Amino acid sequence: MLRAHTKLIRNIARTSAMKQTVLCVILLSMPVRSAVSPHPVRSFPAAQTPPLAQDVQVRAALEWLQNNILSINETQARLTEVPAPSFHEAKRAEALKKYFEAAGLLVETDKVGNVIGTLTPATAANGQSEAILVSAHLDTVFPADTDTRVRHEGSRMIAPGISDNGTGLAALIALANSIHAARIRPRYTILFAANVGEEGEGNLRGMRALIEAYHSRLKAVIVLDGSSIDHVTTKALASRRLEATITGPGGHSWSDFGMANPINALVRASVRFINTKVPMAPRTTFNLGQIEGGTSVNSIPHEAHLKVDIRSESEDELGRLESALRDCVAAGVRDEMESARDRSKGKLEWKVELLGKRPGGELDAASPVLAALRAADEFIGNQSRTERSSTDANIPLSEGIDAISIGAGGSGGGAHSLQEWYEPAGRERGLKRALLTLLGVSGLAQEIPR
Ligand SMILES: [Zn+2]
Repeated sequence: MLRAHTKLIRNIARTSAMKQTVLCVILLSMPVRSAVSPHPVRSFPAAQTPPLAQDVQVRAALEWLQNNILSINETQARLTEVPAPSFHEAKRAEALKKYFEAAGLLVETDKVGNVIGTLTPATAANGQSEAILVSAHLDTVFPADTDTRVRHEGSRMIAPGISDNGTGLAALIALANSIHAARIRPRYTILFAANVGEEGEGNLRGMRALIEAYHSRLKAVIVLDGSSIDHVTTKALASRRLEATITGPGGHSWSDFGMANPINALVRASVRFINTKVPMAPRTTFNLGQIEGGTSVNSIPHEAHLKVDIRSESEDELGRLESALRDCVAAGVRDEMESARDRSKGKLEWKVELLGKRPGGELDAASPVLAALRAADEFIGNQSRTERSSTDANIPLSEGIDAISIGAGGSGGGAHSLQEWYEPAGRERGLKRALLTLLGVSGLAQEIPR
């Protein structure tokens, strides 16, 4: 199986090396950028990434990615096996730190637990204060006791979190290594960040801290999340996470029968809420994701909780849906109180709390980071559509900072399930796309006009 895997990788590498040779021949027959113009790379139209990819050092970095796929896969498996539920990412962060240090980055851990590796430009005159942030989230949705051992089936790797976001983390390290190996100095500082708190109730706290810390310096943010390169997230999907809590006196199932029951009230509220009509456009969704309460089968519970995720392309619809949830919980409690046979034993209380809020936002179609991505797509022969999604890019986008979220290559599936898998075939294309996009916006130190 291992031999088949190696052979597959080698074949892929060979085919894509051939394609690259053809491309390079075409590119080399074109005039070298620095010979025709002293302007920095981003003044070139998107279709002309080739000058960037023609640079000797950039070519070396692209080759490094091509030649190190097996060790990138191994890094991904090793990191995936370190549990990292949201709010408990420290162990995985520690492992990340070592990889960043080995890639020659200046590494620090901030107060929320983000690991940041800095690559500064060659000289102070090169505008080192301006920065590009490239990030991948550390956390997973899986509890600490989940079996995270990676199983191999052919070339496929299977483990919870292997793709989301083992792929992004492995790519983040690979990008830093390829730049280090090729001795590339960027025009602007590159901040490599493995951030905490992307999933669920993490509420993007890692990215929020990064944006707060670097806001005024950031020219662009590139988020690496998952594997797919058939799309690029340029629009941030707004969402809210809410928790409804209903409490009451509680009692014995037999002797206190007739007393208002918080679980009954929550069920009544839930049935009302799931009948709420939501529009197809702007697309609006809701999910009853978690329900808890009670202590035993023969006790009237004193507490019941419901967690709800609501998302919409429109902030207005989100607001409407949040009020609908509050109305339904109030009505569920009222229905239960009205039908309780014995109201003398106390009444029910309710509240709906906001657990998290992800703001919306949109990237300007003329943004340099999108132009850099398009040029990188062209270089690898890829087509990608723009999408709206809920990612770490929500935070910079909502603050008016250029940001995209992209997959880092290969393919994956079963995200957030125990059967999650990752298939590395073709991952070098995603890695090259990410590298060229990053260098397209960071620029190269030697490309500064004199
Ligand atoms: Zn993710």
